[in-house]
Amino acid sequence: MTEAPGLRMFVDGKWVDALNGRTFPDFNPWDDGVVVTVAAGDADDAVEAVDAAARAFPAWSESTPAQRQRVFLTAADLMQRRAGEIRDLLAVETGCGASFAGVQVEFAATLFRQAAALAYAPVGDALASDLPGTHALARRRPVGVVGSITPWNAAVSLSARALAVPIAVGNCVVLKPSEESPWSGGLLFAEILAEAGLPPGVLNVVPHAPGEAGGIADVLVGDPRVRRLNFTGSTVTGRRLAENAGRHLKPLLLQLSGFNPLLVLADADVPAAARSAAYGSFVHQGQVCMCSRRIFVEEQVADAFTEEFVARAERLPVGDPREPGVEIGPLINEWALRLIERRVQEAVDRGATVLAGGRAQGPCYPATVLTDVPADCELALEETFGPVAIVERVPDADAAVERANDSPWALSTGVITGDEGRGLRLARRLTAGMVHVNDSPVNDQPHMPFGGSLDSGWGRFGTGPGRDDFTEVQLVTSRATPRDPFAR
Ligand code: ADP
Repeated sequence: MTEAPGLRMFVDGKWVDALNGRTFPDFNPWDDGVVVTVAAGDADDAVEAVDAAARAFPAWSESTPAQRQRVFLTAADLMQRRAGEIRDLLAVETGCGASFAGVQVEFAATLFRQAAALAYAPVGDALASDLPGTHALARRRPVGVVGSITPWNAAVSLSARALAVPIAVGNCVVLKPSEESPWSGGLLFAEILAEAGLPPGVLNVVPHAPGEAGGIADVLVGDPRVRRLNFTGSTVTGRRLAENAGRHLKPLLLQLSGFNPLLVLADADVPAAARSAAYGSFVHQGQVCMCSRRIFVEEQVADAFTEEFVARAERLPVGDPREPGVEIGPLINEWALRLIERRVQEAVDRGATVLAGGRAQGPCYPATVLTDVPADCELALEETFGPVAIVERVPDADAAVERANDSPWALSTGVITGDEGRGLRLARRLTAGMVHVNDSPVNDQPHMPFGGSLDSGWGRFGTGPGRDDFTEVQLVTSRATPRDPFAR
């Protein structure tokens, strides 16, 4: 792993200490060892970062597509060249196992290549005009400084998407990574993009100590030079951010919590359904916003499905994510582990049955399957960010749709069925922002519109729709000579 530079913050193309001189330890969730000590930024550093981004904007917004393309193609190659090292970093910083870490690195590299192509995408439309001789263009242009706030859970892919499209279309970014992933979700990108030739100030990364996000976020929300925000994280924090942003009339893209259903219909291939459910519920120990938490199974296949799903859950190896084959690593921190324990215990005390897992093993919580969870338990009402799935029998597909939609969250849904057409018809009735027929809800490609409905957020990431969120349309009309507005 690269040394010292990653320990400081990255502002205006330079590795600098926090203005207050403070640092904080970045812990390995497996053994509580200190992975690295990181500069602990605050509002003053955020102001410096916004200054740098605002200074860099005029030149970067006028940079050629060739320059932007070269940066992102080089960065994609660097990501892939350093894949092994980045996987190790994700393991020690976020407890992520090798397979999901590999998915993240590939996602980021692919995204960067698509961002490179975006540099050459058409920037607007030529419009028809009812005024003879008047030409009209609706052209998209970058907005200025974009503030990006990202979580730890898929640190590499989620921070990559928070900066790639904004920068590729000509904006400058101030990235505030999570306190749990300042390196893999922040400083790593500063290093890679600087090496790839990104000019100073176009990307600035301001990490901070636990519990100190607010001061930096307040600068990003309140500074008028920051023209757009994007946030990936919990609904609670996103709502607070949106309230503040509303006061400043500042648009923001919000990708928030999910409480995702997986529907298993009676015509499903049962082993395939169990495989989708096991991946969808337990990948990265259930710490992916798209994870399936509620599984609605049609009565006819409920016993067979549950048996296979439980068997798969029990087989998932638990331990140090650096060990080959380990699928269930540590929860991100003690607080997260205790929350899961408390919620599972509450459900059990009130009549739920544990079919697999259900007891912490050191810093890990094994893949856990519950059934008969009372509807008013916290586990049944809220997203629980860990490897816990609830299986519920339903009489038919209509009931499955009704139960799936009975939630304030609507991020992603999977439908497993032997009839693709039926799955597509059901998709029309599902509230979720993303529906995957014959796949788990955990499914994303960098160019596809990623986002939820209702309390799961606003707007869409993705190199297609994301472009619109990080640019603004300017209407320009022109004529060879002045129009006579009195002419009939
Ligand atoms: P998670 O449960 O994924 O950690 P959070 O919403 O707490 O979800 O964190 C997502 C991001 O939001 C992180 O970068 C975190 O530092 C940041 N964050 C936490 N508190 C605030 C706040 N008051 N304002 C803005 N961002 C915040």
